[in-house]
Amino acid sequence: MSGQSVDSELDETAEDSFRNRVSVFLEANCSRTGDRSGTIGDDDPEGVATAKAFQGSMADAGLAGLAFPSDFGGAGLTNRHQELFDREAQGWHLPTTPLSISHGMCLPVLNQFGTPEQKARFMPDNISGASIWCQMFSEPGAGSDVASLSTRAVRDGDEWIIEGQKVWTSGAHYCDYGILVARTDPSMPKHKGLTMFIVDMRQPGVEVRPLRQISGGSGFNEVFFTEARVPADWQLGDLGQGWNLAVSMLMFERVSIGAGGGGLNADRSPGLIQAAQALGHSHDPVLRQGLADLWIREQIKGYIGQRIRAAVAGGRVPGPEGSLAKLNGALLARRVRDVSLAIAGSAAQAWDPDDAGGDRWAVACLSTAGISIAGGTDEVQRNIIGERVLGLPKEPDQYKGAAWEDIPRS
Ligand SMILES: Cc1cc2nc3c(=O)[nH]c(=O)nc-3n(C[C@H](O)[C@H](O)[C@H](O)COP(=O)(O)OP(=O)(O)OC[C@H]3O[C@@H](n4cnc5c(N)ncnc54)[C@H](O)[C@@H]3O)c2cc1C
Repeated sequence: MSGQSVDSELDETAEDSFRNRVSVFLEANCSRTGDRSGTIGDDDPEGVATAKAFQGSMADAGLAGLAFPSDFGGAGLTNRHQELFDREAQGWHLPTTPLSISHGMCLPVLNQFGTPEQKARFMPDNISGASIWCQMFSEPGAGSDVASLSTRAVRDGDEWIIEGQKVWTSGAHYCDYGILVARTDPSMPKHKGLTMFIVDMRQPGVEVRPLRQISGGSGFNEVFFTEARVPADWQLGDLGQGWNLAVSMLMFERVSIGAGGGGLNADRSPGLIQAAQALGHSHDPVLRQGLADLWIREQIKGYIGQRIRAAVAGGRVPGPEGSLAKLNGALLARRVRDVSLAIAGSAAQAWDPDDAGGDRWAVACLSTAGISIAGGTDEVQRNIIGERVLGLPKEPDQYKGAAWEDIPRS
């Protein structure tokens, strides 16, 4: 099969047979309980190696990149297959978290905006996990207002030279490639002078410095570019179109955080119910109420996800519904944290140092706040929903239409 995968109805027999194939694979390759092999957050080479090996076996089994075209390393199936896979995978531990950005954001952007040559060169290794990708938008002076970013790309013959700094780049320390947004024309208004590029993260002009987090991990990085080089044909999309691509990529990120299938976004209530039972808390009426509330909200999250997947299957890049999903996902994550704390009790604060996974409650709880920030903060999602769903007026911008180079920056 070539080209973009299409969605078709699957009959019951085809669904059963696919579900069976997935279930055989999961039985053979996964465990029911999650050890902490690989988070986006940690400096965890072993977890990254596990993720790569696991993704390789998914690819060998024809289960990687299910809805992506087979010409570019995908399985050439449909979004319905992905949905069935995600459902079947609930309750299993898939050690793919270090690949979340690579697959949740970079892969759809490559598929949507890459040239045929770029897709043929980069997508198969991305899908099989042979190469891992990060995304580089945020800068010290450009987070929520990412369009004001300063990293420069200047054309030099058949290459672009990159100078500047990114920050909060998740996973950059183990990534092979990155998708970068840089300023190519400072004389244009801020949204118009940006271009997107594929960057080789292993070159000498790219320096990755990890940042330590409250959870103890060091998953984000500062990334410094000093005369880093990008071949001209690694430009993604048209010159000056970087903002449009960035908005699409951010929406893929919001969907992935708020409505993706497994990994970061898997339903937590089944595991928490089991944990409450195992720890003897299942008769606590307040906790039972919290768990029931969580379960109901996770069903709603599932419906939001279905709506978005239907839009994507219809050929649309997700719009403001991505912000609804992301905001809902962040609010849900806080409820998960609160219920987890109630179940874990003191184990969320202190644990036996000889228990290798003893810190899992604390790490998960401390990481929750970041979900309200990554991919655009809750406030930014509310602004988008206000403007694009509710039709409220835009925020005032005294520099609207001004050249980026004329706007004061601290
Ligand atoms: C877990 C995690 C992973 C991340 N991974 C990546 C990554 O891989 N790549 C990458 O490029 N970036 C990444 N980021 C960075 C993230 O995108 C930014 O942190 C985020 O966009 C906010 O930017 P900022 O930190 O500069 O905060 P600021 O933009 O300075 O915001 C500070 C506060 O002001 C509020 N605020 C700002 N503007 C408005 C407004 N217009 N209206 C109302 N309130 C406003 C914000 O909501 C926030 O509370 C990650 C962040 C986290 C937490």
